[in-house]
Amino acid sequence: MLRQYLNILLITIYAGLPVCLNEYLNRPCDYVFAAVATGTLICPFVLFPALSGLYALLLGIFLYLPLWADVCHLLIYQTPLNSSSLTGLLYTNPQEAVEFIKNFLHGPILTITLFTLVWIITAVICISRTAPYRSPFIARGLAWSVLAVSALHLWASYIFIEDRFIPLRIFLNVKQLLQNDRELQKLRQEQKDYNFAPITSLLPNNEKQTYVIIIGESLHRRHMQLYGYNRPTTPRLSARKDLLAFNNVTAPHAATLPSLKEALSFADSFEATPEETKGSIIKYFNTADFTTFWLSNQYLGGLLDNQIALWGNEAAFTRFINHDYWGEHAAPFDQALLPLFKEALQNPAPKKLIILHLMGSHIQYKQRYPNNFAYFSAPTASAQEVAEYDNSVLYNDAVISAFLSELEKQTGIAALLYISDHGQDIEDTPESCHCHTPEKNTPPMLEIPFILWLSPEYKQKRPDLAARAAAALNKTYNTRDFIHTVIDLAGLSNRDFQTGKSIFSSDF
Ligand SMILES: [Zn+2]
Repeated sequence: MLRQYLNILLITIYAGLPVCLNEYLNRPCDYVFAAVATGTLICPFVLFPALSGLYALLLGIFLYLPLWADVCHLLIYQTPLNSSSLTGLLYTNPQEAVEFIKNFLHGPILTITLFTLVWIITAVICISRTAPYRSPFIARGLAWSVLAVSALHLWASYIFIEDRFIPLRIFLNVKQLLQNDRELQKLRQEQKDYNFAPITSLLPNNEKQTYVIIIGESLHRRHMQLYGYNRPTTPRLSARKDLLAFNNVTAPHAATLPSLKEALSFADSFEATPEETKGSIIKYFNTADFTTFWLSNQYLGGLLDNQIALWGNEAAFTRFINHDYWGEHAAPFDQALLPLFKEALQNPAPKKLIILHLMGSHIQYKQRYPNNFAYFSAPTASAQEVAEYDNSVLYNDAVISAFLSELEKQTGIAALLYISDHGQDIEDTPESCHCHTPEKNTPPMLEIPFILWLSPEYKQKRPDLAARAAAALNKTYNTRDFIHTVIDLAGLSNRDFQTGKSIFSSDF
C-alpha cells in the first residue's frame, strides 16, 4: 500500500515538475494552468496503469527534453529557444556546430544534462516497476472527466497554449521549419544554379584585395558628431583624417529587410520575388573568385522569410552570433564580431569581401552598449531615450574604429564602406516617434551615414576612383543602388553593372 502511495507521489512530481518549470520560465506564472496541466498529465497513469512505464518514458522525451533544451539555451544565450536558434540548429555550418558543442561542454550545462537523464531514467524505472494496480472506479471516472475538460480547454485556447507551453512551441516551430525546408532547399538550389554573366576585373587576379562592408542599424547620421551633431558621439571617427563622409545619402526604405533587399541585389523593388533576387552581392563576388564572409550580429529568423540571411548563407564563411530575435533579451554587443573579423582577415585567400551586419542602434538602445559607454544622460524620459540612442552611437564609433584598426594592419588593396540600413526618428520633441517605420518615412528615418576608407595602396593603385569619391561627398545618392557602388569599388564589371548607379562613377 505504502509503495502505491509513494508511486502516486512520484508520478505527481514527475508530471508536475516540467509543467511548473515551464510556468516559471514563462513568468508571470499561471498557477491554474499549471494545476490543470499537471492533473491532465496524471490521468493516463490512472486510466492505463499497465502502460505507466511507457507513458512515463514518453513524458521524458516529449516534455523533459524540450524543457532541458530551453533551459540550456537560456543559460548559454540568456534568451529562451526561438525560431532563429532552431533555424541555426537545422542549417548549421561546421564552425557554428563546433561552437555549439563547446557551449554544451561547460559545468552547469553538463550538470543539468546529467541530472535530467538520471531523473528521467530513475522515474521511468520506479514507475514501471510498481505492479500495475487497478484504480478505483471513482478515480477512473474523475480522470476521464479531467481529460475531457482539458481537451476542450486545449482546443479552445490552442493558440494561447501553443505560445505558452514550451514543448509544444518547440515542436510546432520545428514542424514549421521542416515544412518550409523543401521550399527553402528549392530556393537555395535556384540561387546556387543562378549564374551571373562573366565578370571582368580592372585588377590582376592575383592582386591582394580586401573589401569590408559594414551595415549598421537604425543610425540617423545627424546623431553623429562626424556629421555635425553637437554631442561628441563619434570621437574616434571624427579624429581620423582619412575618412570620406558622404553628406546626402538616403536609404530606400525605413526598415531593414526591404532596404537591404534592394541595396544588396540588383532588384529595384523590395517586393521583388525570390526569382528576381537570386543574384546577390555575395553571389556576385563569389563569381568573381572572391572569398566571401558574412558575419552577422542580427537575427537569423526563419530563412524562408529572411532574404538577407539567405544571401548571408551563400558566403564561403557565414556566422550569425545573435540567438535572440531582435535582441530584446540580451543580444551580444557588436564588438563580439571582432574576433571573427580578425579570423577573416587572417584567411590566406588573396581576394576577400567581408560583410559585417551590426545591431548598431536598434531599439532597445540601452541594450546596444556596455555600461562603460553610458556617457550621455538626461533628466526627462524622452530626453533620456535620446541620450541612450547617442550612447549607442558612441559605442558604434568604437566598434567601427576597432574594425578599421584591424583592417589597417593589412597589406595590399583594402577599402571599408560603412552604411546604415536606414535611419531613426529620434529627437526630444513631441513630433518625433523614436522609431523607424516604412509607413511614415520621415527624413531622419532615411538619412544615413555613408563613410568610406581607402588604404594607401588602394589610392595608389586606383587614384581615379579615389579622386572621384573625394569629389562626390555632396552628391545625392540612394542606397537602392548600393550593389553598383560596391562593384565599382572593387573594380569589377559585367552586363548587370551600371556605372551610372555607382556614386564613385564619373557617369553618376
Ligand atoms: Zn534596420
